[in-house]
Amino acid sequence: MKRKKYLFGVLFLAVFLLVGCNRTSTEKKIMTTTNTYYEPVKAIVGNKYEVEPIIKSTAVDPHDYKPTTKVSKQIAGTPLVVANGLGYDDWVNDIVEANNMQDSKLSLGEDVLHEKDGTNEHLWFSVENVKKLSKTVYQRASEMDKLNKKTYKKNYQAYSKKLDKLIDKEHQIKQTTNGQKAYVTEPLPDYLLKDLGISVQDNHFAKAIEDGTDPSIKDVQEIQTGLKNHKVDYLVVNKQVTSGVIKKLVKTAKENNVKIISLTETLPRSVGYYKYMNDILDKFAK
Ligand SMILES: [Zn+2]
Repeated sequence: MKRKKYLFGVLFLAVFLLVGCNRTSTEKKIMTTTNTYYEPVKAIVGNKYEVEPIIKSTAVDPHDYKPTTKVSKQIAGTPLVVANGLGYDDWVNDIVEANNMQDSKLSLGEDVLHEKDGTNEHLWFSVENVKKLSKTVYQRASEMDKLNKKTYKKNYQAYSKKLDKLIDKEHQIKQTTNGQKAYVTEPLPDYLLKDLGISVQDNHFAKAIEDGTDPSIKDVQEIQTGLKNHKVDYLVVNKQVTSGVIKKLVKTAKENNVKIISLTETLPRSVGYYKYMNDILDKFAK
């Protein structure tokens, strides 16, 4: 009798393990539209899910990205696709709709922050936003895989603490940057500048560059003069988008000792979100 029970126990354990293994091996990857969101998702799901970004390096401008058939198929099979939203990665919506998988999409702009189109879409430059995203990923993962709820919670708490270090660092830097001014070549770092108390002086120009339209001559002249007269403390440049006009502005900034801060829109390969933001903050701290 005793032995039978033991056998049954072993059998039960074997079946349980098989089912368990099967679940994790066939459960598909979580996808993120850009590599910016790889770490905030991976930090939560750990080894329970694979995570793969679609835009993986700074070689691609996310604003111009078009998915391949392979990417469409990958997304169609994922239990969760994490997007930025607010028009930044709209291509994912078409795939989601075509596959009737609305419940598997998590968009930072719409679903987490409840923002609407027209809001500055470079949401990850606010660390608070990324913290909120990670919290929602933890909640989603806990629904998808109830057995590992505790793990996801622990992971979220740890990652949230890590992100708090960035926020603390911002507060420290703000003690010197508060009230400073900047020109930006695109409205890319606006949330970060706001958190540092730095005001943007060329919104109109930056919007034109991002929309891919020619900036007005008046705007360019104003910035040139502003750089020469030290009207701003920084020129913040998106390295992923350059043009003759931007090169000229960089040259003027250099000649007039205006601090240039170079950023990228997506993350360099093998750099995670924490390091990306920390490196940028170091540039302001110097
Ligand atoms: Zn952009």
